[in-house]
Amino acid sequence: MKTKPPGLVVVSNRIPVTCQYERGKLRLQTSSGGLVSALEPLLEDQGGVWVGSPGGYDSPEVHKLMAGAAHPKNHRYASVYLSAEEQQYFYQGFSNEVLWPLFHDLQSRCNFDPRYWRSYQDVNRKFAKAAENAAGPDTLIWIHDYHLMQVGRTLRAHRPEARLAFFLHIPFPPPDIFEKLPWRREILEGLLEHDLIGLQTRRDERNFVGCLRSFVPSIKIAGGEEGHTVVSERRQTYIRFLPISIDYPKFSEAAASAPVQQRVEEIRAHHSGMQIALGVDRMDYTKGIPERLKAFRSLLRNYPQFHRRVTLIQIVVPSRESIPHYQDLKNEVERLVAEINGEFGEPEWIPINYIHRSIPREELIAVYNAAEVALITPLKDGMNLVAKEYCASRAQTDGVLILSEFAGAASELRNGALLVNPYDEDGVAAAIKKALEMPAEERHRRMLRLQNQIRTANILKWRDRFFAAIKKSPAAS
Ligand code: UDP
Repeated sequence: MKTKPPGLVVVSNRIPVTCQYERGKLRLQTSSGGLVSALEPLLEDQGGVWVGSPGGYDSPEVHKLMAGAAHPKNHRYASVYLSAEEQQYFYQGFSNEVLWPLFHDLQSRCNFDPRYWRSYQDVNRKFAKAAENAAGPDTLIWIHDYHLMQVGRTLRAHRPEARLAFFLHIPFPPPDIFEKLPWRREILEGLLEHDLIGLQTRRDERNFVGCLRSFVPSIKIAGGEEGHTVVSERRQTYIRFLPISIDYPKFSEAAASAPVQQRVEEIRAHHSGMQIALGVDRMDYTKGIPERLKAFRSLLRNYPQFHRRVTLIQIVVPSRESIPHYQDLKNEVERLVAEINGEFGEPEWIPINYIHRSIPREELIAVYNAAEVALITPLKDGMNLVAKEYCASRAQTDGVLILSEFAGAASELRNGALLVNPYDEDGVAAAIKKALEMPAEERHRRMLRLQNQIRTANILKWRDRFFAAIKKSPAAS
């Protein structure tokens, strides 16, 4: 019996299950970010397939593990297996040594190796094939993020009438940076094969449209406040900024729960008489961790009244450790932590409490809740979900969010946060001082505004707005 084609196929670099070695044995682990919370219920409801890599290398062992993996009731995962060379050239290479730095405005960190580009195209074709196998003629194929910007090109060549949507989770750079990319035209043309392209912020939409105007002159572009429509030779594409968000109740309910509150008390008791400032980041040069540590050092140098009165808890999750820039960053961060603790530390006070590993979700929410100040100061970030999670976890509607003006989240959270330029060491130090001294009434008022904003514009709202935009795209009318 032939099964009914699915309503939705989601394509992303990784599926929400991961094959990884634990004590020498290959095991499956499920992951549960905001995207999973938003998309799994939809896949369950409409029937669907999530296409992506389960991690690990393409090997009989990984195939066997995935073949035996349990799937959700009404949808399934379709694995794309990558060889060691593909992981190196497509993932570490083109995705993370070319697109990642370039799209975060850091072109000096790019390595434009032509082998990377060839592998990126090959792997994108592989993903396209898996998506094509999974989809019926009316299936919506929703492709995610910078790893997969050429999937639409292959899909469109094989299925001219397919319904294709794309969402970019990272920023889109302005034309004078994007133009450095040797394959700039191919990337833009590949994206224009979709019926809808969603971006995080108005600035990203403006940059993307600016790049189209500069590098694909044959197209016509119309629009403004409500998004842009691009008419190319073969199709029309609707472009719209749609900021992603978090599963707000998941954080606010966990934060109010008895076990988390108990942990908050323990953390606070340990730091009694002190205020806690918090940083939570992947070890990534876009997150501005050394710059933040230097700003914290300026705070301690410029305002000695905070000695023994403030601790910075800095959680850094290991990331992309095989890429050379990331190893250098780890060394720099650890050197700065040691220097600052060495310069200011006292027998009963360690200025920076540095944690270099991933911590469990409940523990993270307890730390969010215990910290009076969150320091979210990326040099550039598509959104930054930690900023939103911190606010959602503030059970007492208190706490100050210090936020980089270059994080996507700044466009929605500017009314409640203290916005800073992460490159301005003294400016960030002054903002931390302001946060530590802020009267309770102002802290409450600002946090209330932030929570209202994030509660309303939550991840389900984002999903619904994306689907509303698909209905508005020219191909649907
Ligand atoms: N996070 C985590 N474990 C940790 C610290 C953070 O799972 O120990 C999660 C955090 O809850 C957030 C994500 O990592 O959902 C980071 O997302 P963000 O958008 O801030 O940055 P990205 O890492 O995607 O660039």
